[in-house]
This record gives sequence, structure tokens and C-alpha cells, in this order.
Amino acid sequence: MANEFPQTLTIAGTDSGGGAGVMADLKTMQERNVFATAVIVAVTAQNTLGVQDFMALPQKLIDEQFASLAADLKIRACKTGMLADAAHVHGVVENLKKYQFGPLTVDPVMIAKGGAALLADDAVATVREELVPLADVLTPNLPEAERLTGQKITTAADMERAAVALQDLGAKNIIIKGGHEATPDKASDFVLLDDGRSFWLTAPRYDTVRTHGTGDTLSSCITAELAKGKDFESAIRLGKDYVTAAIANPIAVGHGHGPLNHWA
Ligand code: PLP
Repeated sequence: MANEFPQTLTIAGTDSGGGAGVMADLKTMQERNVFATAVIVAVTAQNTLGVQDFMALPQKLIDEQFASLAADLKIRACKTGMLADAAHVHGVVENLKKYQFGPLTVDPVMIAKGGAALLADDAVATVREELVPLADVLTPNLPEAERLTGQKITTAADMERAAVALQDLGAKNIIIKGGHEATPDKASDFVLLDDGRSFWLTAPRYDTVRTHGTGDTLSSCITAELAKGKDFESAIRLGKDYVTAAIANPIAVGHGHGPLNHWA
């Protein structure tokens, strides 16, 4: 069917508190007018105060979720989020190679804002070697970019160098989030595109703790826009605009790091 409604997939962990992970992904994709599906890799017990517990699902059940989607839906773009440990990263990579789900956005989730590890330490190498080379878009924050490249990032020039290093690892389009050292009053992200063009995206820095799920929201918005046929640069710019608006208009939910406003 030529005019199938754009369908997207998030491969990630849940957030019982509704602000991050698969829940943020589905809300974002819904708001961006695509049909969102999900392969659940891990389940967290979580609220705005932190991650109390989590468990990854058996790989067989994850494989079956992929197979169910591939047998029926026409996924046009997908993303990965929390993948828990090296075995699950590897299992997801095997499925991504097996099926055609369109351009892949990799959010290399490692540590939640509250400090909880959502990826085992020894899985960083698996993400670097197996998942990053599949990424059409890679969306690390500064600590994630540091772990993936092994380079310390303290200046804007460091961010630009790290983006090149991430492309050398095989990722095509990169957005490194959060260069506040270089521009303390701004939320500055550095973008390096596959064709070698690069630019900074800056937005005002808001003084708020309601930023839970920003990474998930950005990568999901990019995924939705790619599913609608946008080019990589446009999808990344629209993602930044969407997250900025969602942070600028906070909603009061919970007692800690509250969620974004997906209706902003
Ligand atoms: N929980 C899950 C399942 C996530 O995927 C993420 C981020 O990707 C988080 C929590 C952390 O969200 P944040 O660091 O924005 O609070």
C-alpha cells in the first residue's frame, strides 16, 4: 500500500512514572503524528524521584516482539533507548540487522539523571562496537560521548572533535547534547552530518528540574520526523525545537525530576 500511515518503533525500557523511556517515546511520537510501536527491552520501577529497580526481559520475548512487528507492520523509522546490558545490546543489534525498520536513531542511554545506571558498565564497548556503527543518527549527551570516544569533553572544540570520533566509529549523523561549559546561559548541541556539514543548535537554558526524559523525547521526535520523510538535518532541528518547547512550559507532576510537557 503506497500511502500507509507512518509507523515508528522504539526499542527501549519502560518508565512506570511516565516521564522517560518508552512512555516518553510513545507520547512524543503520538504528538508528532506517527503511529508508534514498542519493543520492550527492560521494565523499570521508577518515578520522578529516581529508578527504584529494573529488570531486562528474556531475549526470547524481545526477539518475538521484533518478529511480531516485522510480520505485520511497515516500520519506517526506529530508535533505541535503554538496553540494560551487553547481552541485550547484542540481541537488539541482531534483530536490527535481520529486519528493515528504516533509519535508526540510537540514544546511547547509560545513566539516568538521578544517577541510576541503565546500562551495565561493561556494555559500553558493545554499544560502541556493535550498535553505534548501525546508527543513522546518534544522540549522546556529554558523558555518553565521553564514554563512547574515551575523550574528555570540556570545551566546544572538544565536542566538535568527539563528533568526528563518533563518525569514525561508524555513526552517520551525530548530535552531541549539552555543551553548557562553552555557553553557560545556553543549551547548545553540536551537530555533525553525514555529508560533513556541521552546526550548533542553541536554545535558552531554563532553570528547571522538570527535564526528565529529554533525551528520549529528542530521539523520538527525530524518529517520527524521519518516518514522515524529513531529511536528517530537518528532523534533528525539529527535535531540538520540540524539546525546547517542552522544557519551557513545564507541568507539575511528581516531587522530583518532573516530566516534560508534550503538549507545549
Ligand atoms: N528511564 C528510562 C527507561 C530511560 O530510557 C531513560 C532515559 O533514556 C531514563 C529513565 C532517564 O531519563 P532522564 O535521565 O532524562 O531522567
